[in-house]
Amino acid sequence: MTETVHKVVIIGSGPSGWTAAIYAARADLRPVVYVGVAKQDPGPILPGGQLMLTTEVENYPGFPEGIAGPEMMMKFEQQACRFGAQVVGEDIVKCDFSTDGSPHTLHTSQGHAVKAHAVIISTGATANWLGLESEMKLATTGGGVSACAVCDGALPAFRNQPVAVVGGGDTALEEATYLTKFASTVYMIHRRDELRGSKVMQERFLGNDNAKVLWNKTVIECLSTPDEHGAEKLHAIRLKDTVTGEESELAVKGMFVAIGHTPATKFLRDTNLEFDDAGYIDLKTRSSKTNIAGVFAGGDVADAVYRQAITASGMGCQAAIDAEHWLGEQGLN
Ligand SMILES: Cc1cc2nc3c(=O)[nH]c(=O)nc-3n(C[C@H](O)[C@H](O)[C@H](O)COP(=O)(O)OP(=O)(O)OC[C@H]3O[C@@H](n4cnc5c(N)ncnc54)[C@H](O)[C@@H]3O)c2cc1C
Repeated sequence: MTETVHKVVIIGSGPSGWTAAIYAARADLRPVVYVGVAKQDPGPILPGGQLMLTTEVENYPGFPEGIAGPEMMMKFEQQACRFGAQVVGEDIVKCDFSTDGSPHTLHTSQGHAVKAHAVIISTGATANWLGLESEMKLATTGGGVSACAVCDGALPAFRNQPVAVVGGGDTALEEATYLTKFASTVYMIHRRDELRGSKVMQERFLGNDNAKVLWNKTVIECLSTPDEHGAEKLHAIRLKDTVTGEESELAVKGMFVAIGHTPATKFLRDTNLEFDDAGYIDLKTRSSKTNIAGVFAGGDVADAVYRQAITASGMGCQAAIDAEHWLGEQGLN
């Protein structure tokens, strides 16, 4: 029996993976999409990606009224399936990338070995969370906790309200500075007495009248009350002083966790794929090509800077077009 070799296998089912699938399917490449399984690694990873954790997406063009993250991902999947993308509900747990022009081999969570000429990696990057039960409950229900200020900061719930940003690096300072445009006060909660972020970013944040830093504090609980529809909404966070151990409450309507992201690349660690210092897949050119022929990457797994649904989609599109061109050059399309 001859072994099946797929033209394209796509790993991941967020905006990047589905967009790659739509383009690859329309190019008649019959892509197979490994959508992943729900896991904690270290933050929540779900089929459908990071948008499964958010209620309202207001900044993706084409949805003037906004759309719930999970609904948007369902539409992406439907669009890919309409053109013939094949969907598999498994993880890829190991990759053997070939360097001699033979097909790549991917190992699935159910023990299958899958062959593909081209592989598109769209496994995203997980936002790091504090790990509090109350935090995750409110983050997944639109209760006022988020890991993305650019995504959620402009929502009506946070306008002219006090909000907190947890973190102390450049990304946290950038998110906090962005929030000063909307919030009445932006509290930066930092567990030390000195911020890690660069001087220029600190000055940019602290130059705003509504910016404040609370030193030596960690968040130990998110406190919520039901709104008129019975939905729990954040009203305060409980803080613990890292020096004195004293506990206090801070009234805020939003909490933005900005303590970094972890690219979902653990399953690629034994390969000869190249990564940057932060663990993101290193795309050496403006294309989606990696250092391995026939292996492409798109979305947050290869993007430490923008990390938005629209940029992830754009990169997924690039990956599918690059894969199609590469297959053509090899006479494999
Ligand atoms: C709380 C929150 C709110 C956000 N709100 C917005 C917003 O309003 N607007 C916006 O533009 N952006 C928003 N973002 C950012 C946006 O979610 C990401 O930029 C986008 O989802 C990245 O898409 P992606 O396809 O690269 O990765 P992801 O969406 O993270 O998808 C990764 C996929 O890979 C799969 N996967 C991982 N490992 C494996 C494996 N080993 N095998 C198989 N599959 C695997 C996962 O199951 C998942 O399907 C938000 C992010 C968060 C955390």
